[in-house]
Amino acid sequence: MLQINVSQLLKGPIGSTEDHQMSGTVEIDGNTSQTQGRVSLTRTNRGILVRGTIDTSVEVSCARCLNSFSCPLALDIKEEFYPATDTASGQLPAPEDADAFTVDEHQVIDLAEVVRQYGLTTLPMKPLCREDCTGLQKCSPTANKLTE
Ligand SMILES: [Zn+2]
Repeated sequence: MLQINVSQLLKGPIGSTEDHQMSGTVEIDGNTSQTQGRVSLTRTNRGILVRGTIDTSVEVSCARCLNSFSCPLALDIKEEFYPATDTASGQLPAPEDADAFTVDEHQVIDLAEVVRQYGLTTLPMKPLCREDCTGLQKCSPTANKLTE
């Protein structure tokens, strides 16, 4: 599950923290990626700050040999979630960032969208199945042996 209930944390004083171990699947670039990691949530004066490292991998095609392979990604997450409604005043806050992540009406934050966005921006432009990939027909170890 990449959803975390933050109702207790939202009731706590500013500076309260909670650690969460999480795992689940996220759709990244058309692939379903297994995701796991550990995040630390901190109650801020405006919402919940999420920090942590999340490991995932995305199926991509090698830029040289075109073989598809699983590209591991370590995502350094740092995002603030704003409550959709202010529990004290019932007023909607006005986050300066229109694309800000929000805590939903059930006091749950969903990290799947964060992972998806970070995953997309972290994906290499020219992924290589391995550092020394030599390109078409020479990429796999067996193909290399045959040509030697
Ligand atoms: Zn390759």
